[in-house]
Amino acid sequence: MRFKALEIALSRQPIEVSKEFSRVQDMYACNVFNDDAMQSYLDKDTYKSIKKAIKDGTKINRTMATQIASGMKAWAMEKGVTHYTHWFQPLTGTTAEKHDSFFEPQDGRAVVKFSGDALVQQEPDASSLPSGGLRNTFEARGYTAWDPSSPAFIYENTSGKTLCIPTVFVSYTGEALDYKAPLLKSIDLLDKAAADVCRYFYTDVKKVGTSLGVEQEYFLIDKALYNQRPDLIMCGRTLFGYAAAKNQQMDDHYFGSIPDRVFNYMVDFENEALKLGIPVRTRHNEVAPGQYECAPQFEEINLAVDHNQLLMDLMDEVANKHGFKVLFHEKPFAGINGSGKHNNWSLLTDTGINLLSPGNNPLSNMSFLTFFINTIKAFHDNADLLRASIASASNDHRLGANEAPPAIMSIFIGSTLTKVLEDIENNIKPSKGKTEDKTISIAQIPEILLDNTDRNRTSPFAFTGNKFELRAVGSSKSCASPMMVLNAAMTYQLIQFKKDVDGLMAKKEMKKNDAILTVLRGYIKETKRVLFEGNGYGEAWVIEAKKRGLSNLRDTPSALHAYISDRTVKMMGDLGIFKPQELKARHHIELEDYMKKVQIEGRIIDEMTYTYVLPAALQYQKMVADNVVALNASGLPKKQVEASMEVLEEVSEHINALKTKVDRMVEERKKANKLDTIEKQAKAYSDKVNSEFDDIRYHADKLERLVDDSLWTIPKYRELLHIK
Ligand code: ADP
Ligand code: MG
Repeated sequence: MRFKALEIALSRQPIEVSKEFSRVQDMYACNVFNDDAMQSYLDKDTYKSIKKAIKDGTKINRTMATQIASGMKAWAMEKGVTHYTHWFQPLTGTTAEKHDSFFEPQDGRAVVKFSGDALVQQEPDASSLPSGGLRNTFEARGYTAWDPSSPAFIYENTSGKTLCIPTVFVSYTGEALDYKAPLLKSIDLLDKAAADVCRYFYTDVKKVGTSLGVEQEYFLIDKALYNQRPDLIMCGRTLFGYAAAKNQQMDDHYFGSIPDRVFNYMVDFENEALKLGIPVRTRHNEVAPGQYECAPQFEEINLAVDHNQLLMDLMDEVANKHGFKVLFHEKPFAGINGSGKHNNWSLLTDTGINLLSPGNNPLSNMSFLTFFINTIKAFHDNADLLRASIASASNDHRLGANEAPPAIMSIFIGSTLTKVLEDIENNIKPSKGKTEDKTISIAQIPEILLDNTDRNRTSPFAFTGNKFELRAVGSSKSCASPMMVLNAAMTYQLIQFKKDVDGLMAKKEMKKNDAILTVLRGYIKETKRVLFEGNGYGEAWVIEAKKRGLSNLRDTPSALHAYISDRTVKMMGDLGIFKPQELKARHHIELEDYMKKVQIEGRIIDEMTYTYVLPAALQYQKMVADNVVALNASGLPKKQVEASMEVLEEVSEHINALKTKVDRMVEERKKANKLDTIEKQAKAYSDKVNSEFDDIRYHADKLERLVDDSLWTIPKYRELLHIK
């Protein structure tokens, strides 16, 4: 089967991409019910009121909903759409949909129907989606409700088109069952808190939006080879595989020319993305062989999150057409880089100011420093919760694995800003005339920052000129959770900041700027331990971070605890984002997800050992043993039989070790299954089961290196990574 798969993979030709559109302008957002479509398909009043609803978050009444549904239906039908679905993001971390037809039979004819009610709310039930105990079976109703701030779109499959309506998913009693509902709350709260602070500097600011640009890394491998690997199919990563002699050590793949078949695939999914209004712009080879990256232009955060989810769906589907399988797993291959999803995050006012961009005068720099330092404080105070929001069985392989940001949550801000913060902390005033002096005045920041190009790739959270970049997010994970946490933390912090500043102004009759600087100075002192400019991959940092009292939570079960810590419960409760039972539910779901993923990996390791690795190894062992017998019988001197004997010994040793270790792991797995709480199970799966995988793999990989290639049935690393 392996050789058959290789034959298929090697004979593939690049697939031509449809030339349906010749210009991006015509293609862009043609499948989105956007402003243009609304203007053409809605009457003036309806159009105005939906625009207002989107802008101010006002309610959409029944009559209006009916009008909008009717316009949306007309638009979609004209494009050949037959079904519609509420599109939502349940706690599985993927997207979910349940399609309904526009057509209803009536008196023997098909009548088109799509009411305002069907647009606004649905009850998909969906009781099998995870709820962490929030939905008891007798009251298991779950509702989806329209999110008008993310436009409806048409998803095209080869044999049909579906109108997708972005929605939130909540329980009958109002608890969030998805990732979007809390994200939307956090966006709204941050808007208000940031706008309040903003008005210290700019009185005309009414709204502050959050922006997000997502860089998505992925691997691409041939589908025929993929289908020969149960580990890839079931777990998204290889559990075995002897390293290819050449992988990324020559650095020849990074930014190299893109192979034809891959290029066509990229163009194809990018076109599909553009049709859905996803502003994809950047494509390139990544560091590891077979690894690539795609980055769209940043957008409003809710839209950016939806678009990233949608993009992943598209990439997966289009890959199929090109004979590829796209891998979003954080660590599909041992020994080479894993994949991440960099979240570029910033705050933009409705007057067009990027609040994380240093300005060109003292006023705008006071504003910049305010938001910059508050972000640091928000991150510092909630580092554990942020760590929890990116935790998963798959991301554990990446965080701290000497190639990705460590599990220690720190911030990189660059040498110039480090100096600025030091000056503020020590209350150093710039000396007149000598600008190149060791002090940097607030007014000087922009010029200096322009040359400040040092970028630290090892930091989980880095300031990159006009935005912060959260790099620790896993490539397969939705950005919704970490972004919700970042927004919530920032909101909570900005509310506190305003209280602190107003307090100083009222009590001590301080001037505004003095009060702001005094508060910021205090924050710098409190939080500077989280700032780190050095090499995050180094062992020295682990020791140093420990001294500084920073957490280093390396496995998911330990990291997840922050979801239910007192601090989180208080903050999320005060903000009205989560009730304690909602946090408990999320904690439970994440633990269960972790436990199940490791459980599946354990099963596949067991199964592949017995049905793939051992059969090949035993066959080879017999071949060599027969050979030894024949040689001994031939009367050759003993010395001449030594090589065969050594091979036989080596193979036999690994066979024995492999079997013993797999059996032991299976026993541990059974013990873990019998534990009575999900906390204990997840911990046991981490400490007793997952911990054995590398050791098991060591012997299997040694066997792959020893056994006759023609007996080996699992596609090898060099084939998976280099055939395209
Ligand atoms: P790099 O790989 O050097 O980090 P890329 O160009 O690949 O840079 O990606 C940078 C991402 O940051 C893009 O998605 C870009 O649109 C986004 N970005 C730029 N400015 C902002 C901003 N103000 N807010 C959020 N994202 C931004
Ligand atoms: Mg980046």
